[in-house]
Amino acid sequence: MPYVSINPATGEVTAEYADFTPAEIDDKLNLATKAFHGWRQTSIEERSLLLTSAANHLESELPTIAEVLTKEMGKTFASAKGEVGKCALTLRYYAEHGPALLADQIIASPASKSGVRYEPLGPVLAVMPWNFPLWQLIRFAAPGLMAGNVVVLKHASNVPESALLLESLFRRSGFPEGCLVNLFVPGSQVAEVIRDERIAAVTLTGSEAAGQSVATAAGSVLKKCVLELGGSDPFIIAASADLEKTVPMAITGRVQNNGQSCIAAKRFIVVDAVADEFIERFSQGMRDLVVGDPFEPASNVGPLVSAAQRDEVAGQVDDALAKGAIATAGGARIDGPGFYYQPTVLTGVTREMRAGNEEIFGPVAVVYRVDSLEEAIALGNDTPWGLGASIWAEDPAEQEQGIRDLEAGMVFVNAIVGSTPELPFGGIKRSGYGRELSGIGMHEFCNAKTFFVA
Ligand code: NAP
Repeated sequence: MPYVSINPATGEVTAEYADFTPAEIDDKLNLATKAFHGWRQTSIEERSLLLTSAANHLESELPTIAEVLTKEMGKTFASAKGEVGKCALTLRYYAEHGPALLADQIIASPASKSGVRYEPLGPVLAVMPWNFPLWQLIRFAAPGLMAGNVVVLKHASNVPESALLLESLFRRSGFPEGCLVNLFVPGSQVAEVIRDERIAAVTLTGSEAAGQSVATAAGSVLKKCVLELGGSDPFIIAASADLEKTVPMAITGRVQNNGQSCIAAKRFIVVDAVADEFIERFSQGMRDLVVGDPFEPASNVGPLVSAAQRDEVAGQVDDALAKGAIATAGGARIDGPGFYYQPTVLTGVTREMRAGNEEIFGPVAVVYRVDSLEEAIALGNDTPWGLGASIWAEDPAEQEQGIRDLEAGMVFVNAIVGSTPELPFGGIKRSGYGRELSGIGMHEFCNAKTFFVA
């Protein structure tokens, strides 16, 4: 039973589903192929109406849907409700702006008329992670469906209820059958699905290992692929930072989604001038967080997604402490049922420690103290990843220095790295390639067809 839903707050198994048989996979791929032929002919106005209908359904069923997310992966109920709301907003964004983003782009040339027309590619396989079970899919599916593609979802094997919910949401919203189909297949079978001739392209959000496997399979059959992988985003605190607003956002940036976000701030790099004050206030704030039942409104941080994920985080912290790092907050598991871990701040972390080299997917912050902003940015860039980065500074020159010199797909100033449908989202280096959201994300899975009329 590889698709298993376990409540991370209790450790209780709540649902199990068998992997699809080859015949079931075949049926779903046929359904998607058939749906694509009809869907691509559907008018842009009709697509827009259906996206709006999906947004309406999300909003009218918001608490029920949010409950599924909290039960299945442990995020706080408040953040689950936020996730559902953001999905609705993004569907509305593409319903409203999709027609303009997909309109012919007229380009002057020696032709009497020429330019680019955006056409869909076909059924796109979406391999998705568990950490934002709805959002990760919607941020691809909203622009993808608007552009006329159809979606073949392979969700993470620990969030089957979210996968089924997504499939039913689009059906209940009036989309023709097959516009979004769910496959229960293990990660090890994804390459085979990518190679299936009915699949036109693939998008993956997940780990580097999965990225390598998906890119290899896509490359072997020359299919387009977008990769949204991991990161270890720097959070840089310059001398001109306003700590009143920086400290609370540092805490939120690290523990959002119980610390399990690709764009969570993971390395806090603070210049000496403000280091003592920042470390003291940040550590105190992390110690003050309430960890507990994600349905309890007072809880700031819920459990990690699984026992294995908590073991991984505990292993990274224990290794650092054994090699001389200091925990100025937390540093241990929380006993009892559920996969809870204390919000933790580590100082004195070096390259000899796992915490100095690996992405930490949990509520654990690593703080580095440096002499200057130049040194902070150099350390921020000294990483194999390049997803997001944030810089906290009131001085416009320091702000500009961060935007210019940080090597990342996204640089945020006086704000934690986030996503919004208007702006492209994605990384460089080992964080992957391609973009989601905005017009750029939508066009990733379009044939940008050149037309030339002599
Ligand atoms: P993961 O193990 O890579 O799982 C993600 C998806 O890939 C799941 O559906 C998984 O299926 C599938 N998968 C696993 N191995 C595969 C393989 N060899 N070939 C094809 N598909 C495979 O990732 P995770 O550990 O659950 O998620 C955390 C990682 O995702 C972190 O590194 C995080 O930073 C990254 N992430 C990135 C973004 C972004 O936007 N850049 C957003 C969220 C998360 P199974 O569950 O069946 O194994």
